[in-house]
Amino acid sequence: MRIDRVLANNPGVFTGPGTNTWILDDGDGSVVVIDPGPVDTKHGRAIVDKVGDRQVVAVMVTHTHIDHAPLANPLAADLGVPAVGHAPGPMFDPDERLLDGAHYSVGELRLEVVHTPGHAQDHLCFRAGDVLFTGDHIMGGSSVMVEQMGTYLSSLRKLHNTGLTRLCPGHGDEMDRPDEVIDWYLAHRLQRHGQILETITDGNSTVSEIVEHVYSDVDTSLHPLAAQSVTAHIELLKAEGQVVFDGSRVRPVEAM
Ligand SMILES: [Zn+2]
Repeated sequence: MRIDRVLANNPGVFTGPGTNTWILDDGDGSVVVIDPGPVDTKHGRAIVDKVGDRQVVAVMVTHTHIDHAPLANPLAADLGVPAVGHAPGPMFDPDERLLDGAHYSVGELRLEVVHTPGHAQDHLCFRAGDVLFTGDHIMGGSSVMVEQMGTYLSSLRKLHNTGLTRLCPGHGDEMDRPDEVIDWYLAHRLQRHGQILETITDGNSTVSEIVEHVYSDVDTSLHPLAAQSVTAHIELLKAEGQVVFDGSRVRPVEAM
């Protein structure tokens, strides 16, 4: 097995150094392209150059955010292979849809599909032996914006202690010791969960007030991302019966 990375030229607040496009080779010249990224002619050419004369079997996406999926359909069409993902989304229409537990053959390699909703509901991770392509479920060097907190935490726990030795994320560098990384992610989210409940108990009742308190040490350019995660935490607190939330104002459930 051989893994190559091609970095897209889309660095930014939401994307870190840019989107990682991964090229996974079974070791015998059959490859799959994972997360081709945004529509960018230069990046598309860089992917094709990196593939060289090897045989692409599919272009896959971890999820349909616009920094991961839009190049998938045009690149797959150029290469004459299927575009593959969990579900259709903005600028992505899969030729083949993958469900949790499915296996996808890349030459001699069996790629296992793991549905990991939370960052996005259509999010998949791809597992090749003890290596996991994590998309935005786990990022290199930062925490993740979360749409649905309860499912996100379950999706992290689902991967914990499953024998992984290496993570290839959608942004940032590769990571070894996956279980320690997942422990950090879980601890970080639970710490934020506690801080947010405390801030609500102190009388802050809107998402922007809570963001200002809980994320005071984080650059304000990241506050829109933080607001999304705070909302996801509030929804989970509501499901836990700890707060009342009407969509704009939140208050604690008083202890009896
Ligand atoms: Zn994403």
